[in-house]
Amino acid sequence: MNAFTAVTYDVCPHESLCEAMNRYEIEKEEDIEAAAARAAGQDVAPLVEVYQTPAGKEDVPLLYKTYRFEAYTCRCGEPRD
Ligand SMILES: [Zn+2]
Repeated sequence: MNAFTAVTYDVCPHESLCEAMNRYEIEKEEDIEAAAARAAGQDVAPLVEVYQTPAGKEDVPLLYKTYRFEAYTCRCGEPRD
């Protein structure tokens, strides 16, 4: 059974920032997309990468899927009303 980990990223396109924030283990019975969405909501992260760690190869996690959450996109460079 492969283990999955979600990593949240703080992204600011105006400052060319893309910084990893937190790492969350995804329980094997959990829906991966739902777990990514929950992690994003917790950290207000516009980008979440889910990594798959093959059994016996814990040191080589593979990028499984990238999720983007437009609602959490940084708006700091946009003009105000
Ligand atoms: Zn910004």
